[in-house]
Amino acid sequence: ATGRPTNFIRNIIEEDLAQGANLPRYWCGHPAPYSEQLQKGAPDVAKIRTRFPPEPNGYLHIGHAKSICLNFGLARDYGGYCHMRFDDTNPVKEDQEYVDGILDSVRWLGFDWKHEKETNLYFASSYFEYMYLFAEHLIKTGYAYVDEQSADEMRENRGTLKEPGKNSPYRNRSVEENLRLFREMRDGKHAEGSMVLRAKIDMASPNINLRDPAIYRIRFAEHHATGDKWCIYPMYTFAHPIEDSLENITHSICTLEFEDQRAFYDWALERIIPVLRTPQFEEAKALIAAMAEGKDERAMRFVEEAYAARAKLGQSEPETKLKALFEGWSQARPASLEDADAKAFFALLTAHPENFTPLMQAALGFVRKNFFLLSHQYEFNRLSLTYVVVSKRKLIQLVKDGYVDGWDDPRMPTIVGLRRRGYTPESLQHFAERCGVSKVSGGWIDYSVLEASLREDLESRAERRMTVMKPLKLIIDNYPEGASEELVADNHPQKPEMGTRKITFSRELWIEETDFAEVPPKGFRRLTIPADGSPAKPVRLRYAYVIVPTSVDKDENGKVVAVHAQYLPETKSGTEGSVSVKTKATIHWLDAKTAVPAEIRVYDRLFCKPNPEEGEGSFLENLTPNSKVVLRSYVEPSTAAAAPDTKFQFERTGYFVADREDHSSEHPVFNLSVGLKDSWGK
Ligand code: ATP
Ligand code: MG
Ligand code: MG
Repeated sequence: ATGRPTNFIRNIIEEDLAQGANLPRYWCGHPAPYSEQLQKGAPDVAKIRTRFPPEPNGYLHIGHAKSICLNFGLARDYGGYCHMRFDDTNPVKEDQEYVDGILDSVRWLGFDWKHEKETNLYFASSYFEYMYLFAEHLIKTGYAYVDEQSADEMRENRGTLKEPGKNSPYRNRSVEENLRLFREMRDGKHAEGSMVLRAKIDMASPNINLRDPAIYRIRFAEHHATGDKWCIYPMYTFAHPIEDSLENITHSICTLEFEDQRAFYDWALERIIPVLRTPQFEEAKALIAAMAEGKDERAMRFVEEAYAARAKLGQSEPETKLKALFEGWSQARPASLEDADAKAFFALLTAHPENFTPLMQAALGFVRKNFFLLSHQYEFNRLSLTYVVVSKRKLIQLVKDGYVDGWDDPRMPTIVGLRRRGYTPESLQHFAERCGVSKVSGGWIDYSVLEASLREDLESRAERRMTVMKPLKLIIDNYPEGASEELVADNHPQKPEMGTRKITFSRELWIEETDFAEVPPKGFRRLTIPADGSPAKPVRLRYAYVIVPTSVDKDENGKVVAVHAQYLPETKSGTEGSVSVKTKATIHWLDAKTAVPAEIRVYDRLFCKPNPEEGEGSFLENLTPNSKVVLRSYVEPSTAAAAPDTKFQFERTGYFVADREDHSSEHPVFNLSVGLKDSWGK
């Protein structure tokens, strides 16, 4: 439907949109940013909402680019929204520098969180108050307890895949005691590591993530946004469903390692959603505040009554009856939980205690579909790219220990590094699309696929230039000394609309060292002077004349320092005579009088093993030696004059970019972006 390659997530969304399922009917409670938007007018409901939730503990890498293109791309293609959200729930490693860097990278990649009606930039840390209240709510409803086992004991008692875990001795504390201890944790009365809040689920669950996971821990650390306001912080697994739910995220897309966490995600939402979803924000806030005090009856009813009745409840009540009940309820709009239908629902539950589980499931399913939005998690395969590492921890190490020249070193797989390398947003978007989205983990994308995406993009866009990477002097002995002429070169041979430029020609030129061979390898067609005295083969100088090499000058070590040649004046490019002499090779050159010296940084892949992390040793042992080589080269004056970040194809060599940081027309600096063809290993 979008003209883009489809995948299982697109299929799910298209189905949801077709059925109107899992989209918010009502705009429900949301912290400040939305409440402001509510005042400006009704926000867009019934639209898909995705989110991109990085932790601001490093710069984004190519794996994140896949996630950004996926999440923002879905919102763009299906007319929805993608929320830019910082998952800043861990105070220890986060920093404002990373927040700014991440925003910059997302914008550069071509996406925006600002829209006419909404600005969707959020920080998980702004929900700490809510997370805390939900944690108390779980305690009050018997679904969380404070555990004082040591970390080792907890690990020990968690059990294994084959063996169930053991209940903590603290598992059956009273609600009052749990509340008191949790509040003491919040008030800084207990030491780091001395206790945690755990969800009370099932220590025998086959899914180890459901064996009473920790949801809050003590950390006396300064948070980049909330300072020292908190000394307890929610675990990511608890925070995430809450963040999604508060923002009305419809499709919460994460990588496959989180598949086993989905059960907890759903568990948590089903327990807090009745509190979360009330029609008006202010009312929701009041409810939550009241709940925190433990005195709001309305809010507690849906939750406590139903769940506290659990023990008494059991078997089968016709689903149709329940459905009819909920239909009535949903049509009446959930103005409040006082609703008569809600009461009827609880009456039904109490009258048929044997039927609690199926009833609750049906009810929640109905609510999810028709009433409130319940965020859903979907998992896709993360990107693994050969010859790089995409773990923030390892990237930080490369930067901090000086293996590269910073986060934006052109060898880095970071977005800022790729940008400096000359990658374009379009090439990365295209690459992300090409990688595909699936449920199959463990696949590697070859680095050459990334390079091919850039090459394809630049092929039609980059102007051509002649550049001599490793210069060797060429002297045209029969060209008049002091003379000079102007020639015209195409900026793009296949695209005349990209125009032409003037280049100059004179007696002394620079050519590529490798275009002359004293002892030519077999099949060499460029400049060489046969040892047997037979005539040398003519070679064309691009946009200029055919030349024939005649002799060389050598230094005291026998190294060739200049090649002498005769030019054939009648063979000038663009004239009738240009075809009068057949040549088997065309080489590029620069006029030594006008060529501008330039620094060219030639980069190799950062790692020399497809999987740098494989094997016993550190990944650092697999760094490519000398992956950065700096050449003293020559460029055309028009190349030197280009603005930073301009991309060129240096003919016969590759694509290059004027370095964003260091290039100026006085001191030109170019980075190799990618070679003309895949020459890796050849
Ligand atoms: P790292 O392991 O490098 O620290 P992370 O997954 O912890 O990465 P986050 O900042 O939490 O980093 O990631 C933000 C989003 O980017 C997450 O939704 C995550 O799923 C996604 N993401 C991270 N790495 C990849 C990857 N290699 N491929 C696809 N998506 C990724
Ligand atoms: Mg993370
Ligand atoms: Mg990670």
